[in-house]
Amino acid sequence: MATIQDIYIPEDINAVRLRFEAFTKKDDASGCWIWKGSITKAGSMRFGWPYPRQTVPATRASVFIYHRDLAAGMDVRSLCHNERCVNPSHLMVCTRAEGMAQLAASGKTLKGMLQPRSRLSDDQVRAIRSAKGTHGDIAAQFKISKRTVEGILQGRSWKHLLPK
Ligand SMILES: [Zn+2]
Repeated sequence: MATIQDIYIPEDINAVRLRFEAFTKKDDASGCWIWKGSITKAGSMRFGWPYPRQTVPATRASVFIYHRDLAAGMDVRSLCHNERCVNPSHLMVCTRAEGMAQLAASGKTLKGMLQPRSRLSDDQVRAIRSAKGTHGDIAAQFKISKRTVEGILQGRSWKHLLPK
């Protein structure tokens, strides 16, 4: 991962700013700038920084482009709690610890780390396969997502428990 020291503010920062803004869609109601650029599988919004060429988190790029006061080791925290928002005035520079605390409070790190399958026992999976009702009913009954239910019922997950 790129550290902040590796990034240089180019003289033509306006060109970078225009390219950055082209990847955003401004939402008038909330004031949020919704990121339309690249998003990794893990859900991280990335922006191609030109000097030197590398991708950086879009929120960091935003703070850099508009505030330019992001010190090494500092993190960026969302003030509007819209995870796709890169509006620099909806972002705040904070310490790494504060950034992690906010992430933990939102439950996102936890959700991302927990493999959905690890939350269900083999018996529960068998019960889901023989349960009656819509996928939504079953999801509510077992407190899991509809997607997880569908994965189980369609045999995409917990393959080892499928009847032979
Ligand atoms: Zn916002």
